[in-house]
Amino acid sequence: MAIQMLKSVGEAQALDEGYASFMDGTGANEVEDLLAAGKDGSATGKVIYDYVSGLPGTIYIFPIRQDSGLGSQYLEPRMMGSGVVFFNLSMSKTGKIGGTPFPPVIQLYHELGHAKQYGEWGPKQWDAVCQAGKAPITESSVRLKTPYPMVLESDNMKRHEFPMCDEMGSVKRGNYMDLKFS
Ligand SMILES: [Zn+2]
Repeated sequence: MAIQMLKSVGEAQALDEGYASFMDGTGANEVEDLLAAGKDGSATGKVIYDYVSGLPGTIYIFPIRQDSGLGSQYLEPRMMGSGVVFFNLSMSKTGKIGGTPFPPVIQLYHELGHAKQYGEWGPKQWDAVCQAGKAPITESSVRLKTPYPMVLESDNMKRHEFPMCDEMGSVKRGNYMDLKFS
């Protein structure tokens, strides 16, 4: 079992004081339910879950506070295990594509999809994809202020997010920036 949900601040602090400061311990049970719903409700979700669970290290899931100023994201391995998923549950519930709510479970599995990419590719190819894919963003965005690795995102959407959307009957984004939070 290589996915570990951090359910309390104390548990997170024991691993990393800095990361723990972004959470308040709320929402962890709900995020845990999303983790189960993704693998039980989608064949692709199960592939992602099983792959990430089988990685040699541990992927930590931190449910972060809405007011932490951070969006959900995957942090590649630096200090901890095989990487960290920050998940902003409250923010995820405001996610919409063309006005239609975008399920938090798919947003969570999007981040786990990045963990799968990292596991498949290793650090060298991951870095190469991130660098090669950095296209300037022309659309104004409060979320993404810097050039973003769009090749990485396109691959993650194509192989992980879009199949999950189909399997779970969700609206899909046409391009990465179509997901808006309010
Ligand atoms: Zn992403």
